[in-house]
Amino acid sequence: MILKYLSEKSTEISALESALERLNPHHSSYAYLEQTLYRKKSGIAGELQLQKLLNTKTLLYDNFILFDLHLFSSGLFQIDCLLVTRSFVLVLEMKNIAGSIVIHPTSHNLERTRSDGQVNYMRNPFYQLRETMDLLEDFFLMNGINLPVKGVLVFRDANSALNVKENSLPSVTLPDLHGFLRRTKSNENLLTPEAFINVIDSLLTKHFCYIPKPISERFDIPKKDFTIGVKCPNCLKFGMKRLHGTWMCVDCKNFHRTAHISALLDYQFLFSKTISRIEMEKFLQCGTSTARTIVKNEKIHYEVQKNKKIYQLNSPYHL
Ligand SMILES: [Zn+2]
Repeated sequence: MILKYLSEKSTEISALESALERLNPHHSSYAYLEQTLYRKKSGIAGELQLQKLLNTKTLLYDNFILFDLHLFSSGLFQIDCLLVTRSFVLVLEMKNIAGSIVIHPTSHNLERTRSDGQVNYMRNPFYQLRETMDLLEDFFLMNGINLPVKGVLVFRDANSALNVKENSLPSVTLPDLHGFLRRTKSNENLLTPEAFINVIDSLLTKHFCYIPKPISERFDIPKKDFTIGVKCPNCLKFGMKRLHGTWMCVDCKNFHRTAHISALLDYQFLFSKTISRIEMEKFLQCGTSTARTIVKNEKIHYEVQKNKKIYQLNSPYHL
C-alpha cells in the first residue's frame, strides 16, 4: 500500500523551467539546462511508472510504500522508493537509461552504448544504491530501528540490452518487479504491528522537503543573464506594469492582480529565498510603494540585518 506518493512536478523541475523561461535560448548554459530538465522529467516518468505498478499490484504481506524520501543520518540522502515490511525494508532505486548497458561489479562506472554506437560512462548505480542503503542503516541505528536493509536496482526499459555481471545486489526490470517482490518475503516478523507503525511514523516525520540550491549558484550563471520582470499569465511575455493595484500586460492588455507571486517564486528558484525591498523593486520592475504593498499584503516575514529589512520569501511561498 502506497502511503507517500511521488509529486509529479518536483521543485527541481519547476526551478529548471523558471530558468529556461528567463534565459535567452542562445545563452551558453541553455542547452545544458534543457538536457538536465529532460533527464529529470524522464526520471520522474520512470518513477511514476513504478508507482502505477505498485499501486495496481498487491503483496500478500504487511507493507507500506514511501516514494521520494529525503532523510538525514551521517549525511543527506534521498530514496526513490522504499518498501517497508515487518521483517525488512527494501530500497528501490529506479534507473531509466536507454541503450545497451554493461555493469561490472568492480567497476566504478556503468558503460552505456547508444543506438548510434556512441559509448559513454556514468556512475555505477550499484555503488549509488549501496551508499543509500548504508545511509539508511545509519538512520535506523540513530533512531533505534532494528530492521535489515535490502536494495534492488529497477531498470525501467525491459528492451534495453542489459548485461549486469555478477553482483552482490539484485537488479530487475520493471515488468519483473512484482514477481521479485513476491519472492522477497520473509516468514519471520521482526516488528510487532505497533512497532511497524512507529517505523513508518519515524520515516515520515524525519522526511524533509528538499530545496535545491538556487539555479544561478548551482550552474554558475550570473544574475544579470536572467530576464527580470513579471510574466503575463496570458501571453507569457515579461514586463507587466503595475497600474491601480493590479498588473497590466503592455502587449495583450491582460490584467492580473497576483502575477507577482510567480515572479517571486522564480526569484527563489534562481537566486535566493531572501530578498531586500530594493532587490524586489528591481526584479519586479516596480516602485517602492508597490513593493511595500506586496510585502504587507502577502504577509512576507522579514529579519533586520545591518539596519535593513531582509524578506523571507519562503514564509508565504513554500516551494
Ligand atoms: Zn500578455
